[in-house]
Amino acid sequence: MTTIASALQAVRSKIAEAAAANHRREDEVELIAVSKGVSPEQIDAAYQAGQRHFGESYVQEATAKMAALNSLSIVWHFIGPIQSNKTRDIARFFSWVHSVDRDKIAERLNDARPHASVPLNICLQVNISGEASKQGVAPNALQDLAQATRLMPQLTLRGLMAIPKATPDIVLQRAQFRRLREMQETLNQTGYRLDTLSMGMSEDFEAAIAEGATMVRVGTAIFGRRQ
Ligand SMILES: *Cc1c(COP(=O)(O)O)cnc(C)c1O
Repeated sequence: MTTIASALQAVRSKIAEAAAANHRREDEVELIAVSKGVSPEQIDAAYQAGQRHFGESYVQEATAKMAALNSLSIVWHFIGPIQSNKTRDIARFFSWVHSVDRDKIAERLNDARPHASVPLNICLQVNISGEASKQGVAPNALQDLAQATRLMPQLTLRGLMAIPKATPDIVLQRAQFRRLREMQETLNQTGYRLDTLSMGMSEDFEAAIAEGATMVRVGTAIFGRRQ
């Protein structure tokens, strides 16, 4: 039986190896442990093994776990699809939101972010594969969304996020991640200072690191298969 601590250690080693193989420093890549469907006890086990950043996809599930774990210094990332009636809780309880894909949602998050809090860090989710089932702004609408969100005072636009089309082919994985990096570079050439590329999950985080990921979102490889 693999424990959460040993699985976490194995993922960290692979991140370090992928970083080194691409002449990057290990600390350029933040590991977000995706804990959707995972109990507070399992999250606590990862925390005791040194993990601090956790990602959640469902607001009600997440806020219940936050309450159970409120004595821990966890940085919570919201990574799931955003319904407008959930923006208030997301803006209040999370430090990061990776899945902003339309300006209505960004406006609601901006309005709901408490003024006593630091601005909410956001990434714009881009639908790089064009699959209808995927969330995300279309690549040709990214510039306008970036322009709108950068002006919102309670949000800090940090970067881009994508979930590529699943494929076991590492060449195709890398090609998709490279497109997201190129979109970030294009924005940065026109005056943005985006420092975050949220890309890579259990099956493809090494390819993502090779293409410049600064945050990888890993669930299954740490906590095992979800029910
Ligand atoms: C579930 C999820 C992950 C983690 O996926 P694994 O394959 O379990 O590592 C990453 N990102 C998002 C947006 C997710 O919903």
